[in-house]
Amino acid sequence: MILVTGGAGYIGSHNVIALIESGYDVVIFDNLELGHLETVETLKSIQTKGKVVDFIKGDLQNFEDINSVFKTHKIDAVIHFAAYSQVGESVKNPQKYYFNNVYGTLNLLRAMLENNVKKIVFSSTAATYGEPVYVPIDEKHPQNPINTYGKTKLMIESILDDYDKAYGLKSVRLRYFNVAGADSLNRVGEWHEPETHLIPNVLKSTFGGGKKFQMFGTDYDTKDGTCVRDYINIEDLAKAHILALGYLEQGGETNYFNLGTTEGNSVKEVFSTCEEVTEREIPVDVMARREGDPATLIAQNTKAKEILGWIPEKSLKDSIKTAYAWECKLNK
Ligand code: UDP
Repeated sequence: MILVTGGAGYIGSHNVIALIESGYDVVIFDNLELGHLETVETLKSIQTKGKVVDFIKGDLQNFEDINSVFKTHKIDAVIHFAAYSQVGESVKNPQKYYFNNVYGTLNLLRAMLENNVKKIVFSSTAATYGEPVYVPIDEKHPQNPINTYGKTKLMIESILDDYDKAYGLKSVRLRYFNVAGADSLNRVGEWHEPETHLIPNVLKSTFGGGKKFQMFGTDYDTKDGTCVRDYINIEDLAKAHILALGYLEQGGETNYFNLGTTEGNSVKEVFSTCEEVTEREIPVDVMARREGDPATLIAQNTKAKEILGWIPEKSLKDSIKTAYAWECKLNK
């Protein structure tokens, strides 16, 4: 059985579906602060062929909460998503991030060691690289995060190295670029309150009463003046986690991989693709730059392709189509 922390959240829930569809039993651990009970109910309703999808409500900052999951379930490996992930908030309130992300992970790892579970797939981020020295960014790029969120994820990567050396705990760290889209059957999708991400914010402003879309910065040194990002589809991303799990199950050593497409799209390109998909003219306000946004972030993904056999298949437009279907459902 696979323990999925943060399984009621955006990335976690799509991974639970991928696990179910790959034939795994799953136990979701989530405190439902940012995850949704409705999501858990949806996930439980799609369990198939005698497979188990269990849910335990608990907080990683409480060791007993997480330790008890290992006592009541036979866990073979962990996929760890539970974390705060808002860059701006992390800079304003670092304590909140260090306690939840770092201390929470330390509790999880302690519970894993006490219960002799030694495989973990960890949700890391391109934010661990900081301001790019070169693009596309490969895994050898220096890791110098420029915000607390990225620092918490890098600290955890470093802790995982130490725990492998000392305790033989094997990890795969997946460094996500910009995750986009929703489940193609529209069962789950991106559901943050408040929403800070580009694609859902553009799409939200197509609904009556929705706010005008705010475009942060048009004076960057890029093809059209807006920031360029590498948008990786959520279902492609989930597939990489299944491959990473298989890699660990086959005795793979601790490793780390970028998850991105190698293609860069500007904010303006994303915006116009949203207009195309929704067949609407979307209201926009051009704003000043948002603090802490690097001009360009694009992944090199050769390592994940070669070692994990991962092939991302979906385009930006595919992601925007499923994200829009999901937004329509949320706004019904
Ligand atoms: N962005 C924007 N308006 C929004 C949200 C985001 O212009 O309402 C821009 C943001 O400044 C960045 C890009 O879209 O250049 C991607 O931002 P997002 O928050 O989606 O992801 P990040 O790159 O910060 O992880």
